[in-house]
Parts: sequence; C-alpha cells; structure tokens
Amino acid sequence: MHDHPMFIDGSHQPAAGGAWLESTDPYKGEVWARIPRGGAEDADRAVKAARRALKSGPWSTMSATKRGHLLRAIGDGIARNADRLAEIETRDNGKILAEMKGQMNALPEFWYYYAGLADKIEGSVPQVDKPDTLAMTVREPVGVVAALTSWNSPLTFVAMKCAPALAAGCTVVLKPSEFASVSTLAFAQIAKEAGLPDGVINIVTGLGSEIGGPLVQHPLVDKVTFTGSDSTGRMIYQLAAASMKRVTMELGGKSPNIVFEDADLDAAAVGAVAGIFGAAGQMCTAGSRLLVQNSIKEAFTERLVSLTRTIRMGDPNSSETNIGPIATPPQFQKVLSYIEAANADGARCVIGGKVATVDGSSDGQFIEPTIFTDVTNNMKVAQEEIFGPVLSIIGFEDEAEAVEIANDVIFGLAAGVWTADFGRQYRMARALEAGTVWVNTYRAYSPILPIGGMKQSGLGREGGLVGIDDYLETKSILFSTGKGQTANPFLQR
Ligand code: NAD
Repeated sequence: MHDHPMFIDGSHQPAAGGAWLESTDPYKGEVWARIPRGGAEDADRAVKAARRALKSGPWSTMSATKRGHLLRAIGDGIARNADRLAEIETRDNGKILAEMKGQMNALPEFWYYYAGLADKIEGSVPQVDKPDTLAMTVREPVGVVAALTSWNSPLTFVAMKCAPALAAGCTVVLKPSEFASVSTLAFAQIAKEAGLPDGVINIVTGLGSEIGGPLVQHPLVDKVTFTGSDSTGRMIYQLAAASMKRVTMELGGKSPNIVFEDADLDAAAVGAVAGIFGAAGQMCTAGSRLLVQNSIKEAFTERLVSLTRTIRMGDPNSSETNIGPIATPPQFQKVLSYIEAANADGARCVIGGKVATVDGSSDGQFIEPTIFTDVTNNMKVAQEEIFGPVLSIIGFEDEAEAVEIANDVIFGLAAGVWTADFGRQYRMARALEAGTVWVNTYRAYSPILPIGGMKQSGLGREGGLVGIDDYLETKSILFSTGKGQTANPFLQR
C-alpha cells in the first residue's frame, strides 16, 4: 500500500493536519492506497500558489506558443504512461481495464487539441461608430480555476478541464473525488516532467465538505468547474454565486435512448446495452430510459433480455469481463434503493434486480444488469439519475409522444435515436432537449466536439472550440486617435 501526497506549488506534500484517507479497490474490497485528508488550510496554500503562478513567474509571461508546447508534452507524458494510469483507475473505481486503457489512449488527443488552440486565441478590431477612436477586444485568462471532479473517469475530467484552462493561460487547483484520487495525483508528476512551472496545476485531496467547500469559496478563485452530481452541483453553484465566480457545471442525466420500429434492431439492441450497461451504468450520459415504439416493444425487450444474459460480470482486470463492481459503497446502496423503488412503484423486472456474487470479490459490490419494463415516465426510476446498471423501458406510440416523454425530465445531457428515416433522425435530433444527440450510435465522444448539458444537466460546454471560451474573459480597449481635441466632460463620448 502506498501513500500518495498532494501536489502544491510543484512539490508533493501531505495534508497540513497530517490526516489520511484510505482508497479502496472496489473489486477486492481491500484498501490499496492512502491519500491526504486535506482541509481549508491546504486549499488556501494551493490557491495562493496558483495565484502566484498566474500573476508572476514564468507562466504569467509565457507565450501562447510555448504554452501549447507544454500541453503537447503533457499529452506525450500521458501516452507514455497510459497503461500504468489505466491500471490505477481500474484499481480505484473498478471500471474494466479495457475501458480505462481506451480512455487513456484517447486522452493525449485532448491535450494535443488544446495545445494547437493555445496560440489561436484572438481578439478583434471592430470598426466602432466613433470618430478618432481605435477599439479592440482582447481575450484574457479568467484567472485561478478550481476544478472538482467525480470518480468515474478521473483523468478524462482532468483533461477536459485543465487542457482548455491551461491553453487559455489560467492556473488550476484540482480536487478529485475522494473515492478515486490516485490517478490525478500520479498525473502531477507527468505535468512536472513535461516542464509545467510550479503552481500552474496544484492537486489537493480530501472530502468534498472539508476541502471542496473551502476551495470553491476561496476569494482568490475566479472560476469553478465541476463534474459531479446535480445535488452537489446545485450547492456549489450557490457557493460560487456569493462572489460571482464563473461556473461550468457537468452534471448528471436521465438520457432517453429512443428506438423506432424501422430501426436496425440488432444495432439498436447493442446500442441500448452500451448505453446502460457500459461502465456498469456509471456514466453521466447513460441511456437509462429506453423508449421503444409500442409496435415492437415486446419483441425488442425479449431481444434485449437475451443480449443482457450474455453480459459477464467479474474481475475488471480480465479481458473476459464486461462489467465490474459498483465503484463505491454509497453508490452501491443508492442503486439498490432505486431497484426497490421501481418494484414498489409497479415496474416489472424482466432480468436482474439483485446483488450478484462474483468469484474473487469478497465485498460483493456487484449488481446484476437490470431491466424494468412497464415503466411510466413519472416513476422515480424514470425521473432520477441512478448511475448504475438499471434500465427502464417505456413504450411510445409515435414521434410526438417520444419527444414528449424524452423531454419530460429535469435533465438534458444526452439522447439516442434509432431509426432508418433521415427526416425523422433530424427532426428528433432538433426536438430533443439534450446537449448531445447520437443517431444510430451511442457513447461516441471526441475532444473536437463539445459536450455538456441543457436544463439541470449543467452549464457551459467542455471540448471543441467553444470549450476554451469558459476560461477566457473578453476585454474591450479604446484608444483616442484625435489630435488635441478636448472632449466635453459632461457628455458621454
Ligand atoms: P459528487 O457530486 O458526489 O462529487 C463530485 C465532486 O464534488 C467530488 O470531488 C466531491 O469530493 C466533491 N464534493 C462533494 N460534496 C462536496 C461539497 N459539499 N463541497 C464541495 N465539493 C464537494 O459526484 P460523484 O458521485 O463523484 O460522481 C457521480 C456524478 O457525477 C453523477 O451524477 C454523474 O452524472 C456526474 N458526472 C457528470 C459528468 C458530465 O460530464 N456531465 C461526467 C461524469 C460524472
């Protein structure tokens, strides 16, 4: 078992109070690492280091081109360490190694994309309607960014937040989830070896309430970017509002995956499985409501149940395994409580619905892939995010009803549509209230495409060209070019 210190101002440090938290391998049920249990004092040290790096020292005067080179070097460092980082993430959150390796191999592209964007941040020279005036806009880094992330894909969230923040010239204090901090702490060394100056990225760890709260409220933090649950997000949004901090929120969802009778039903069934049983359903974009046209609902449900029977639960490190354990004990209890609620509300469980026993896993934090049918959209299981392998099947008659049901939730993160009719594909994509719509596919991502939520799934976008906007402020500068005239001081110029 190893201790993994925090990273503040370029050096590895324990928490000021000297306390540690244990990190548990959810498959084996064993403590495998310790992380510092930081508090307000640590948050303060990290924010002050980030502020110093922003205002003085090499980062504050570095050219955008050089910033781009550093981001590229970080991407290279991740590529070199991809296997090791994937193993750490699987150990910490129990997601299958094949998936974590896939994510790590894709991550450098995120850093390269924003490396390329760093020196393409441009202002403008608008032709203002005033005589003797030259005006320009410039874009400046928003300042010190507090970045709080969840446990399901830690280094992906680090990339989605830090790559655009650094490209824009900001400095960052990262606070990963207390359930899976080790890969983010390992990333510190990669950033250091890439040549990132001290204080540009700082990493603090601990419980959300003990260090996350003080970090978000710190007066020297200019912006908060958060990936996590809608309930924590709402609370953090309120804390940030007190001093008008800029905010990006990547929250949960209750995404509809919609299957029409004319779809390629084999592909749709695979897409439905990917949408809810990939990562054991522990993904923000989970297609947790499967809307199926009534004419094919029964047959499609049978097809899906057969496919679900073939899912292999087990050791996340094995290439034979499709889904691993639920990542944390509270999450495990939460998923079970939704299964109970669905049964109580009259939904019909057609497969799964129970805790599973898996060889080699002493704690048994496994839940069978579960499908409920006869679900109505007002049931708790259809309205609230579960973040686990639980699918609700809901029937619909026609396009209009599909849209009505799909949009009848507080969330708007993602949606899937399965149909062969192009006109319908486009009509549905436009009518769905979701930041991402997948047509005849599901769970496809790219650093080049923005992702983010409508409605209560979030604020702002990460990824793509617009992903950098949230880390920039626009400033207008006006010059008088007139020769010696004196303006009337009592009139607006
Ligand atoms: P969470 O809200 O419990 O925690 C997220 C982060 O907030 C953690 O770092 C945690 O320590 C911190 N935190 C918790 N309480 C806090 C407090 N009182 N003050 C300050 N910080 C606090 O979420 P989670 O369980 O780690 O992650 C699962 C959630 O994340 C799901 O709802 C999922 O949908 C969401 N998520 C969203 C996206 C997206 O891009 N939209 C991606 C992944 C996960």
